[in-house]
Amino acid sequence: MSTDIHASDRNDIPANADSVYSCFDSKAVLAWYDTKGRDLPWRRRWPALAPAYHVFLSELMLQQTIVATAIPYFEKFTAIWPDIYALAQAELDDVLASWAGLGYYARARNMHKTAKIIASEYNGTFPDTEKDLLALPGIGPYTAGAILSFAFDRPAIVIDGNIERILGRFGGITRPVAEIKPALKSAFLQILPDQRFSDFPQALMDLANDICQPRKPDCQHCPLQPNCIAAQADDPAAFPPRAAKKQKPLRTGTAYLISAPDGRFVMYRRPQAGLLGGMLSFPASGWDKSPAIDDTLAQIISDSPAKQAGLVTHIFTHFTAKIEVLHYLLDDNDSLPDGFFWAEDSPDDWPKLMQKIRAAAG
Ligand code: SF4
Repeated sequence: MSTDIHASDRNDIPANADSVYSCFDSKAVLAWYDTKGRDLPWRRRWPALAPAYHVFLSELMLQQTIVATAIPYFEKFTAIWPDIYALAQAELDDVLASWAGLGYYARARNMHKTAKIIASEYNGTFPDTEKDLLALPGIGPYTAGAILSFAFDRPAIVIDGNIERILGRFGGITRPVAEIKPALKSAFLQILPDQRFSDFPQALMDLANDICQPRKPDCQHCPLQPNCIAAQADDPAAFPPRAAKKQKPLRTGTAYLISAPDGRFVMYRRPQAGLLGGMLSFPASGWDKSPAIDDTLAQIISDSPAKQAGLVTHIFTHFTAKIEVLHYLLDDNDSLPDGFFWAEDSPDDWPKLMQKIRAAAG
């Protein structure tokens, strides 16, 4: 893969960066990993390598999701769809339902699209070049690097937020990492060991998770302590500085929880493109920039008194939604306008926001 880091990219790490990172004891990190590293269901220890399918599934799940949350989803997906062909043949709605609760549903749609491409164009085998991997839906530079490293044992660049923190602290970097990403790639290439390329990034991630934690680095027990610049400072956690958090815009709106005597709810399936694409949703207005509730549906509920079920807050990547939930209990299972249907009360198949809206009604 490309390792083309320009000299000018190096200006934001210490002037003596080459010698700083030349003291990075990668072997000690690997030795630490051998005794303290986590056993995760998608992992293999070198020289064994993880199936690319498992790396692919887990990495898509881990985008925006913590390990503990991703594990049961990984186990569920590999039980239902044990290989890429099985996933390629699955119905998208089934994949989305199994993904429900993980959020960021574009990941599930891209996962399904990529499975179809791998099955039909690559004979079920993931490509082993960065260029081919990057051409697949849902695979960006980080995920491509993870597949090349964990599944093919290549010396690929794999830098997540945890590894950024270790590199930033070890080098005593005093600028937010977002401003010096190319320099961190250069540093990563410098500290790569001669072998165990698949283990090394995972060892760094575990070290960051267990020892070099964001607020309380445990330098006393860190194999990197002797040469780490941050460890010599009064407050190692201050390295690298955190970028100021931006306030998310607030959107407000209303969700209409319309239930029938048999316990079913009025729902619709959202368009494939856009927010919560392809997922089941209660009728709503405002928060997702949708127009006011459908006229026919408004007519159906007009005779039923609305019960204010509460206020639900949900944080999306780009905004926070505050949604008032109105609950209507209809006497009959009225016929519904096009696009709406009576859905069983099965929150496990719904996105988190819909689960919260449902819970608001008790
Ligand atoms: Fe992090 Fe401390 Fe280890 Fe440096 S010595 S990498 S600050 S835990």
